[in-house]
Amino acid sequence: MNKTQEFIKVNEDHWECLCGNDTMDIGFFPCDNKGDCKEPDSSWEGLYSCQKCGRIIEPETYKVIGINSNAKKYDDFIN
Ligand SMILES: [Zn+2]
Repeated sequence: MNKTQEFIKVNEDHWECLCGNDTMDIGFFPCDNKGDCKEPDSSWEGLYSCQKCGRIIEPETYKVIGINSNAKKYDDFIN
């Protein structure tokens, strides 16, 4: 598989995922390395997930490190 590394688009604190979701849309939420939303506690690795497509984002580099379209979303998390 010859897949180029994906990055989200960032303009200061405004993030835009490759799927079109952005900070002003449904946004991003802290997640674990499988893309499931979680509380940003001491076990949190600092990753964020796109709440639309499930891409997992490393916030220091804005690199897409994975995708989990069946991940636990924020809505599942709060209910
Ligand atoms: Zn996305």
